[in-house]
Amino acid sequence: MPTQPTIAVFSLWLLFPAAASAVWEVAESPHFRVYFRAGTVAPAPIVQHAEEFYAEMHRLTRGMPNAKIDIRICHTQADFQAAVHAPIQDWAVGCAFPRQRRIFIQNPTHLALAKLQLAQVLRHEIAHVLFWQYTQKASADIPLWFVEGIAIYLAKEWVPSRHETLLSRIFSNTLMPLSELAREFPTAQGDADLAYAQSQDALRWLVEVKGSETLWALVEHLHAGHPFHTAFEDTVGWDVATFDARWRASLPERYQWMALFSNVYLFWGGIGGLALLSYLFCRQRRRKHLKKLAEQEQEIDAFFEA
Ligand SMILES: [Zn+2]
Repeated sequence: MPTQPTIAVFSLWLLFPAAASAVWEVAESPHFRVYFRAGTVAPAPIVQHAEEFYAEMHRLTRGMPNAKIDIRICHTQADFQAAVHAPIQDWAVGCAFPRQRRIFIQNPTHLALAKLQLAQVLRHEIAHVLFWQYTQKASADIPLWFVEGIAIYLAKEWVPSRHETLLSRIFSNTLMPLSELAREFPTAQGDADLAYAQSQDALRWLVEVKGSETLWALVEHLHAGHPFHTAFEDTVGWDVATFDARWRASLPERYQWMALFSNVYLFWGGIGGLALLSYLFCRQRRRKHLKKLAEQEQEIDAFFEA
C-alpha cells in the first residue's frame, strides 16, 4: 500500500506542440502532469483528486513503470475536438489514450462537465489508463462493456440519467445483449446512456453475486495475459453468454420497487396529485367556513334587527 504522496504543485510556461501559439502551464505531482491554459482552471484540486484516486488504485498500480500520466484540460471545444480520435471517449467530456498514459478533459467550468462533476470524470479516465496498463497483455479482446463497467465501478460513479434510462429500458424490455456492446457503443445519446448503464449494472451485479475478490481474480488473470473469455469463465464460473442471460434475467426483479419510486414522472405526478387533493380539501373547508361566517353574520344582523 503506497503512502499518500505529498503533492508539489508548480507551474512553468511552455509552448504546446499542437497549438504553437497557445501558452500552457503545467502542474506536476508524483504521478501526474496537468496541462492547462494559464488562468483558466485551478490545478491544485485536479492534482489532488488524481493523486488520491491513484493511491486508492494500488491493486492496479503495483509494478507500474515510473512514468507520469498526462492530463490535459481543454479550455475550448476546439481544443477538445482536436483529441476526439482517442481510443476511449466518454460523454464528449473526457477521453483517454491508455497506452500513451494521456487523458483529455473538458474545462471543468463548462456546463456539461460541471454536471458530471470533475472528480468523477477524472477518476473514470484515470481508471481507464490504469486498468489498460495493468491488463495490457489481454487488452485486445477485453469487451468494451467490461472496460467501461470496471472504470465506472472503480471510479464509484453515479449518473442519475443513466439510472432512469436503464429502468425505462428494463420495463420496456429493450435492453441490448452484452455481445452487442463488445467493440463499440451506440452514438445516439439515449442508446449510449443505456450502454454505460448496462455496463455499470453488469459489473455491479457480478460483484453482488460473486464478490469483489472474484472481479479482482479476473483482473489478475487478464494481467497474466489470459484471453478475456477464458479468464472470465475460469474465475466467475459462467461463460460470458450465461452471465449475460442471468444478469438480464435479474434486472426486473432487482429494480421493480425502485422503478416505482425513481420514476420522475410518477413521483412528480404523485406530488401534483397530492397538491391538488390538498387544494380541493382546503377549498372545501374554506367554503364551509365562509358559509358559516355568512350564517353567523345573518344571525347577528337578525339579533340587531330584533
Ligand atoms: Zn469510459
